[in-house]
Amino acid sequence: MKVVRIGDPVLRQKAVRVEQFGEALKQTLDEMVVLMKKKSGVGLAAPQIGIPERFFVVQVPGEQPIAFVNPEIIETSLETVDFTEGCLSVPGVWGDVSRPASVRIQAVNADGKMFRLDADGYLARIIQHEFDHLNGVLFVDRLKERELSKIRKKLEKWEPSRK
Ligand SMILES: [Zn+2]
Repeated sequence: MKVVRIGDPVLRQKAVRVEQFGEALKQTLDEMVVLMKKKSGVGLAAPQIGIPERFFVVQVPGEQPIAFVNPEIIETSLETVDFTEGCLSVPGVWGDVSRPASVRIQAVNADGKMFRLDADGYLARIIQHEFDHLNGVLFVDRLKERELSKIRKKLEKWEPSRK
């Protein structure tokens, strides 16, 4: 298992729902947590390891990792906040992204059990970033023009179709 980088078409695909729950999925989720920690990341989505399916893991530093399978963001706050993001699939790039301050998410865990979570702060931020990955969206797509202009050359090299 390794992290794929921007330019790989799998990162631009709309991921499909998970239909098969069981040991294979659990093991993949466990391996993703290990890989995420090894890379000092706080979130990792299946497309980032080359699997175009709807699941991701997140871990706020100091807390337990959480796995989200077939997640749906069912509510977002009107209030938005700016926060600096980076991505294991977009090396060496950081930038401010504006997103809702809090979200309510519904998902299924590794055992196939449905749960709901109200998240704010850093957790809400990570969840929204990872959720974007399931729809082929990268945080650089959400940068404001001012920040985007600084890295446009890099992005066009990685994704020539941007031009
Ligand atoms: Zn990312």
